[in-house]
This record gives sequence, structure tokens and C-alpha cells, in this order.
Amino acid sequence: MKLDATDLRYLTGDEFRVLTAVEMGSKNHEVVPNPLIAQISGLRSGGVNKVLGSLAKRNLIAKVQNTKYEGYRLTYGGYDYLAMRTLSRRETLHSVGNQIGVGKESDIYVVADAEGNQMVLKLHRLGRISFRTIKTKRDYMGKRKSASWMYMSRLAAQKEWAFMKILYEHDFPVPRPIDQARHCILMELIDAYPLRQISEVDSPGKLYSNLMDLIVRFANAGLIHGDFNEFNILIRRETGEPVVIDFPQMVSTSHENAEWYFNRDVECIRTFFRRRFRYESILYPRFRTIISERNEKNSQEFQLDVVVAASGFAKKDMDTLEQYMKELDLDENENSNEVEEEEEEEEEEESGEDDDDDEIKKTKLSEGEEDGQKKTPDDSAEEEES
Ligand code: ADP
Ligand code: MG
Repeated sequence: MKLDATDLRYLTGDEFRVLTAVEMGSKNHEVVPNPLIAQISGLRSGGVNKVLGSLAKRNLIAKVQNTKYEGYRLTYGGYDYLAMRTLSRRETLHSVGNQIGVGKESDIYVVADAEGNQMVLKLHRLGRISFRTIKTKRDYMGKRKSASWMYMSRLAAQKEWAFMKILYEHDFPVPRPIDQARHCILMELIDAYPLRQISEVDSPGKLYSNLMDLIVRFANAGLIHGDFNEFNILIRRETGEPVVIDFPQMVSTSHENAEWYFNRDVECIRTFFRRRFRYESILYPRFRTIISERNEKNSQEFQLDVVVAASGFAKKDMDTLEQYMKELDLDENENSNEVEEEEEEEEEEESGEDDDDDEIKKTKLSEGEEDGQKKTPDDSAEEEES
């Protein structure tokens, strides 16, 4: 999907009103009926039809012929437009540059403010892959059913924003959060390579213990990253220091499965270091030790999970998002089992070789720079469906 920043400038007042009306209408309607759009926008229906046509031509909305009635739905493009317009009104975002990442659940762009300072725009895209499966079992979404991808993407952005802010304020190595609107987050651009792309470091032992210390620091603050792996750890080009990104799945250390999440994070790092750097250590953090030490010290005042909860991101939203993400995860595991098994086998056969040099250029950290930004091919099935 392309982001078109030029469109930001060329929307008339009426077009904007109608687009907003479609967004509002889709909170309760999978397909927003034309008369409702006219009513919300406050325009005469003749005028509305013309505007609807021009918005549809730009792919900001899409016409849907329901069995019962004709109407429109907002597209990703339309939602992106509305979010970027908000950011540009607030003057945090000025121009949109290259796409540097296509994740399963997000698109990442390099963007700039009016002074030309580069930033990262992350657009959450929950529901892009597994929407079909989710659709069949999303009772927990209640009345929100019709707008699930929009709603879940916005929740993910709000949660990520809340955590990034708290972490940044407490000096965790995370990008500086700049702004948030709808499903988008604007943050500092880190001059770094994902750990995934690093083939050599001067001291794997040092990096390993840095990362384990980070996991412990998170846990001491009541938090578990939940997806602490080589994709979500960036290594600064200049200093080799790690920066952690990607927080929509963070959980509290008081979560019922906290220990499981914690161990998974630790295991991700251990496995990666073993495979990539042939580095193994007998030292790694244990969840129970950390928690009991924390209880002894009674250092409960430093509970970032509690701070986040108090910051406006409701527990209820957190639960909704978690349930949704769990389903995505389940779905993904069902599909990827075969591939993983194959990879394991291969690895055993050619042990001594790296396990994952698929299409990603690796970087020796100690060497000079290269174009290190990862760009995975966009394999996403086309867009949302509703
Ligand atoms: P996803 O949820 O899709 O995994 P991430 O937040 O992990 O999205 O970002 C995907 C990729 O985009 C990262 O692996 C990294 O290469 C790049 N990226 C994300 N945020 C930044 C940033 N602040 N600075 C530099 N690169 C970033
Ligand atoms: Mg990620």
C-alpha cells in the first residue's frame, strides 16, 4: 500500500466532511448506507453522491453493494489519510518519504517534520492477515464488530504509545515518542540495524548481557516485552547499543502467564545468540528470582504497568487487544508449523552455518556502513475485507 502525502493537500472541505462521516458511520455499520453518510455529513444527498464518487476514485472509501442496501466503507487508505491529516494539522508531520518496513501488522515509513527532521511513522495494520479467521470468533468485540480492523489497529497504536512514553520517560532505550493519532505513531528514527541483520559483533557476551539486563530491568519495572527478539531489537550504528521497539504485546509481570512470556523472551535471545554468534552462557535471568527479590525489597512504587494503566489505556482495552493478538498468534502458528519444522531439520544438517540468511543482507557491526534498512517483500493479501 502506498501512502500518498499529496492527497493531504487536495481534499475539499466537503470531501473531508464526507470522509469523516463514513468513518463515524462505520463504528456501527460494516457498510455505511448512503443516507446515513448524507445525514452525518450534513450535505444534500445530491452533493454527497458526487463527493462519494471522488473519494472512492482515490481509494479512500470503497463502494459496497450489500444484499440489502448500497453503501461505502472506509479503506486503509482513508483511515491513513485521516490519521495523517490529524498529525499534519498538529504540525508534527509534514512530509512522507520511503517505506522502510512491512511487518505483518504494521507499515513503517520515514517521514519528516517541517524542518526536514526525519522521523518514523508506524501505521498499525491489525487484521491484515488473519481477518477471515478472526471474523468467525470475535464475539468479544461486542458491538464493535463492523470496524474491527480499524478499531484493533487503533488500540494497538494507543497501547504502543502509552508504553513507549512511559518507557522513554524512565530512560529505557526506546525511540522517543513524538505523536499518536488513530492507528499511527510518530517516533524518533533510530540510526540502527535490526539485530536480525547483524552477522558479527565485537563482543557477543557483552551484547548478550546487555539484553538480559534489559529484560530484567523491564521485569523490575513490572513489565515483560512479550516479543523481545532479533527483529525488535535495533543496534545503533554508531555505538552498537541496543534499542528496543514494538510494544503492542507488552504484558504486566502480574499477568497470569507472565512467567511464560518472560521465559519466551529470554529463550529468544539465547537461541538467537547460539545460532548467530555461537554464543552460549549458563547465565540467564529467572522470573521467580526477580519477582521475589522485588517483593523483598518492596520496590513496588516503581510499577510501570500500574502507571500505564493509570495513564488512560484501560485494562479493558488491553484485554481486548490481547485476546485478539492471541488469536492472530494461534492462527499464525497453525500455518507456520510446517515451515518451522523444516528449518529445524535443515539447521541440524548443516550445523555450523547460519540458519536464516533468507533474502536479508547481514551486516558486520564492526565494519563501515551499508544500506542496512530491512525491507521485506510485501506478501500481504490485499488489504482489509469487511
Ligand atoms: P512490527 O509490529 O510490524 O513488527 P516494528 O515496530 O517492529 O513493527 O517495526 C518494523 C521494522 O521497522 C523494524 O524491524 C525496524 O527495522 C523498523 N523500525 C521500526 N521503528 C523504527 C525506528 N524508530 N527507527 C528505525 N527503524 C525502525
Ligand atoms: Mg516488530
